[in-house]
Amino acid sequence: MSKYTLVIHGGAGTILKTDMTDEKELAYHKALGEALDKGAEVLIKGGSAIDAVRAATISLEDNILFNAGRGSVFGKDGRQEMDASIMDGKTKMAGAVSAVQHIRNPVELAYTIMTKSPHVMLNGKGAYDFAVLNGLKTEPDEYFFSEFRHNQWKQMQGSDEAALDHNVIIKDKKFGTVGAVALDVNGNIAAATSTGGMTNKQFGRVGDSPIIGAGTYANNKTCAISCTGHGEPFIRAVTAYDVSCLMEYKGLSLEEAMTIVVHDKLMKIDGEGGMIGVDAKGNAAMVFNSEGMYRGMRNSNGINEVRIYK
Ligand code: ASP
Repeated sequence: MSKYTLVIHGGAGTILKTDMTDEKELAYHKALGEALDKGAEVLIKGGSAIDAVRAATISLEDNILFNAGRGSVFGKDGRQEMDASIMDGKTKMAGAVSAVQHIRNPVELAYTIMTKSPHVMLNGKGAYDFAVLNGLKTEPDEYFFSEFRHNQWKQMQGSDEAALDHNVIIKDKKFGTVGAVALDVNGNIAAATSTGGMTNKQFGRVGDSPIIGAGTYANNKTCAISCTGHGEPFIRAVTAYDVSCLMEYKGLSLEEAMTIVVHDKLMKIDGEGGMIGVDAKGNAAMVFNSEGMYRGMRNSNGINEVRIYK
């Protein structure tokens, strides 16, 4: 049994080796490795799962390669609105933020809502004001801007479609949401997810990522899950909580439950994407039904891997 485990993702979608340059592949490997370093540092020192998922997710939000925080995708009106959530499996406390702008680290705002307010979710301007009141870092539009995401949006501007960001190489689909799940040395688990959502989304649209039970869920009794994919089917399938339910009520293992949800339940409603999960025994899994998913895992048994394709 591993004493600690950290699993991260940087989004799923039509991520093909044929579309990738060596430099780009290297940059993704480096970014995922750095996020694993940040989260593992917390766990190695005996820190909590919740602090580890925060640290790993912040590292991914700060990296312009991913669709979360800096580098978020553009909505229909050319603005970047972000969603995030976090859940502590020990206390089953949760925090979430939706459709927020200019917050440097939306996952920190979700954490602050969890720890410093009586609420679970704040949105838009109210969430922004709460962040400022609590001294969280804000940034101007330019900080979040990336040429790459802007070009993706330009390809879709004026259409009524919304797409996963890794999929906007014209017609294919990709999601660049980020997330982390962890087990700490005290046997507690936690999950976090952060995203800019889908390219060309209707302003005000909220995906699965900030919805507890859909994009994120954690319960020491069962599992900690962070999802990435086409948000609408993930919301309708109550995806993350469904994995927990299959474990709790049917006695399935983490991997069995994740496989049923991703390859059966989601597939039946065109829910493209995937998820990462851990349980309190140190089992971990990364399951997806798309071409690829940026992902990585590190644990106290010496596993240290970063992968992109199937
Ligand atoms: N699930 C996210 C959303 O629908 C997108 C993604 O995972 O990239 O907002």
